[in-house]
Amino acid sequence: MDILQPEQLEHWDKEYVWHPFTQMREYRKEKPLIVERGEGSYLFDVEGNKYLDGISSLWVTVHGHGKEAINRAIIEQLDKVAHSTLLGEANIPSILLAKKLVEITPPGLDYVFYSESGSTAVEIALKIAYQYWQQQGDEKYKSKRKFVSLVNAYHGDTIGSVSVGGIDLFHKIFSHLLFETLSVPAPYCYRCPLDLSKDTCSMQCVGEMEILLARHHREIAGVIVEPLVQGAAGMIVAPEGYLGKVRELCTKYNILLIADEVAVGFGRTGKLFACEHENVKPDLMCLAKGITGGYLPLAATMATGEIYNAFLGGIEECKTFYHGHTYTGNPLGCAAALANLELFEKDKLIETLEEKISFLTHGLERFKELKHVGDVRQKGMMVGIELVENKETKEPFPVRANIPHRVILEARKNGLIIRPLGNVIVLMPILSMSLSELKDVLDIT
Ligand code: PLP
Repeated sequence: MDILQPEQLEHWDKEYVWHPFTQMREYRKEKPLIVERGEGSYLFDVEGNKYLDGISSLWVTVHGHGKEAINRAIIEQLDKVAHSTLLGEANIPSILLAKKLVEITPPGLDYVFYSESGSTAVEIALKIAYQYWQQQGDEKYKSKRKFVSLVNAYHGDTIGSVSVGGIDLFHKIFSHLLFETLSVPAPYCYRCPLDLSKDTCSMQCVGEMEILLARHHREIAGVIVEPLVQGAAGMIVAPEGYLGKVRELCTKYNILLIADEVAVGFGRTGKLFACEHENVKPDLMCLAKGITGGYLPLAATMATGEIYNAFLGGIEECKTFYHGHTYTGNPLGCAAALANLELFEKDKLIETLEEKISFLTHGLERFKELKHVGDVRQKGMMVGIELVENKETKEPFPVRANIPHRVILEARKNGLIIRPLGNVIVLMPILSMSLSELKDVLDIT
């Protein structure tokens, strides 16, 4: 038992673990939060302190921690088999989950390709889109090899997903490793990249995309977007109609639309999928995070029948999609996802969200008055509070001031886990949180 003393764990954590997205020199100076268990909307650390999970454990937790039905589904599957490969074989949970995903995602997405993380779901979508055009009979499509993505985009950390990313801080250092991607301005209305005001803009950023697509469509395989909210960029919410217009442009110029719903999927925006808000049917859709409600790593790339059919052919034709991971379609992950999706129905979770979303909207009003709050953004249960040094000029705090980090440490002391993204404080409450827990999230923040 000695080895489980908090001090020992802290020592070993600092001695052996390299944490993601973390400057380890700074991390090692501070007392780490070492989580021991979770229950409902709370996490408990090794010293028994209790914290509200204000970021859904990095945007994954849906029905709360320690949910009996999901635990049981995993254990029942574990009693049958923990893993069998999907390469040339099948397993029961992956079949049932694929059927379910096809039923609940936007019409037309009829096939499911599994993987383990959001990054791999994106990587797979990019490779499928690329190969799709190469396998069209008509030679003129062979030049469709490039992707369009948005400034500030975040689609994951593997080389392909970084190539379509647009956050310099994360991506610039790798620039020589990445494939060329065409970039268009994002609808970041608080800091409009085109210097327009909300009243006069008429969504000129879509106009910019059209100019690019019109000029280069013969070379473009796909456009990738985070529907409605650019999450990692700081919860940048697109104006209403933006996504629908992007869909129209992709159709007009014969370009595949890849919807990266890794962050926004599974209820975060108030509907099961963000694309539903604008009735958008993407050609490829990437899912991860909330797919298992935060219980096991799993991801899915959904494709239309038209795309799937382009990969059918004789062995000699080499149309096979040569991609697959050891744990692709892992039965435990799929069983967890099935149980998670059943709970959406059983608890009527989506129906409960409307009230919580308005509660948040109302509760966020008071932040707007604060001296160092420049912008408050919300879409459904996703919130970004952008801090600025000067509200008039929108001057951001210098990085070295580390203000958002100080805010989250203070929140932690008061029993709330949140995380900043640059100068933006992100709130991503668990979808099953009660109104009084949501009130605590706002009050502590
Ligand atoms: N795509 C989006 C929109 C994301 O927000 C993320 C992660 O935050 C990813 C992809 C990458 O997912 P993962 O961290 O599971 O690889």
